Amino acid sequence: MVRDFTGRTVIVTGAGSGIGRATAVLLATEGAELTLVDVDEQGLAGTGDELEKASPGSRALLVTADVSREEEVAGYVRATMETFGRIDGVVNNAGIEGKHGLTEDYGTEELDRVIGVNLVGVHLGMRHTLKIMREQRRGAIVNMASLAGIRGVAQRAGYVAAKHGVIGLTRSAALEYGRFGIRVNAIAPGGVLTPLVERAMREAGGDNWRELADAAGTPMGRLGAPEDIAAPVAFLLSPEAAFINGTVLTIDGGQSTAA
Ligand code: NAD
Repeated sequence: MVRDFTGRTVIVTGAGSGIGRATAVLLATEGAELTLVDVDEQGLAGTGDELEKASPGSRALLVTADVSREEEVAGYVRATMETFGRIDGVVNNAGIEGKHGLTEDYGTEELDRVIGVNLVGVHLGMRHTLKIMREQRRGAIVNMASLAGIRGVAQRAGYVAAKHGVIGLTRSAALEYGRFGIRVNAIAPGGVLTPLVERAMREAGGDNWRELADAAGTPMGRLGAPEDIAAPVAFLLSPEAAFINGTVLTIDGGQSTAA
């Protein structure tokens, strides 16, 4: 075991798939008690099964909730406090990519939906846990941004705007809460082969989506795996990262260093 989260409670949103699931499994094997949140009840149950295999007997509360709805966020936070009595870490990871298309064709309804999950969801996740962390005088938050939070991506207006916003929320909260012993950081992954990316690749490449995925090369010759993101998330939540606050950690195999 690299880190020891025994006696620590961490909330992970979007835990029913991809990066969120890999993060939940890793944190459980490192001893954390978890609240796992997702709109997809079946996905959550699948993550519950994976946890049981990877870390038999680990404590996890599974909550079906939509991170863009304030009463549901308040609900998973309340359930966490009732079950575990503390919140040491939060991973605001739930996200959707939304439709692809030119900005002129990107309707406000779609913009609201994508911003609602990816940006408002992160704000609500912080808003409802920071107060508790401030009273505890401890805590760490990791928000899932994207390379699309640092650079433009054509035909993804809502996603890019939301992910830039996530970085803004992260930096503001880091400035506000550092003095209370709370750290807030963001991760900016490049391409990670999860169901979210597979869906986008299938949309673009049809039956040849795998070739497209392999060709979307990084200097390391592959896309990322969910586990490549999970380990740095756990690091940022741990005391090893005690002086890392307001940072945006790019994890992209070197992709973004290209001219
Ligand atoms: P994924 O689709 O595999 O998992 C996302 C999970 O979020 C799903 O289980 C989904 O049901 C859940 N979710 C969606 N809307 C929700 C809502 N309103 N409330 C609660 N849960 C909701 O995707 P992933 O690739 O694991 O993505 C996780 C995060 O990483 C996202 O924020 C995504 O934008 C970000 N990200 C992914 C990549 C990548 O290449 N995969 C790159 C950069 C950033």
